[in-house]
Amino acid sequence: MANTVLVATRNAGKLAELRRMLAGGPVEIVGLADVPAFPDAPETGATFAENALAKARDAAAATGLPAVADDSGLTVEALNGMPGVLSARWSGRHGDDRANLELLLAQLADVPDERRGAAFVCAAALAVPGGLETVVHGVWPGRIVRAPRGSGGFGYDPIFVPDGDERTSAELSPEEKDAASHRGRAFRALLPHLRDLA
Ligand code: IMP
Repeated sequence: MANTVLVATRNAGKLAELRRMLAGGPVEIVGLADVPAFPDAPETGATFAENALAKARDAAAATGLPAVADDSGLTVEALNGMPGVLSARWSGRHGDDRANLELLLAQLADVPDERRGAAFVCAAALAVPGGLETVVHGVWPGRIVRAPRGSGGFGYDPIFVPDGDERTSAELSPEEKDAASHRGRAFRALLPHLRDLA
């Protein structure tokens, strides 16, 4: 089973993205739906890496399979790197994308254009049962605009403009976003480690 890897996410998009990247290779990707259920690790770490590693470690221990997990969020320079690991619950309600985005815009209302730098960051971790642990990062730099634009993506995408573009990440096609995003970068950095498992 050394060539089967569990991707410990409930996000079908992330699973599909890794499957596309590893298509035709020696590693087979399975998702949480393909293994017996086990409790979710709480996201209580101080960093993306800690959270990703905790999820990967728990999944590897529960299933006996090498496991991949990720954790990601938005870091805003004018907020000293926050919302960071609190991105999903910045407004106090977990996963309320609209409220999170509106609170962030209100907090940055007086921040001038030249200080609106931000980056999406993703940590991707691989844990092999009883063995190797690896964490890699992907960073997608950009800035926060003043009003939401676009209907693609999720989370803070409608207010994030990546460097080198004038569109928000919610105005990119899924393929354009995968090619540039923090998650795409982190997953691509993990590929050699996954291929080494085969
Ligand atoms: P998770 O790592 O998928 O749990 O994402 C944590 C939170 O970070 C999400 O709820 C979003 O608020 C934010 N986030 C992470 N990645 C993205 C992205 O690609 N676009 C927009 N928001 C994101």
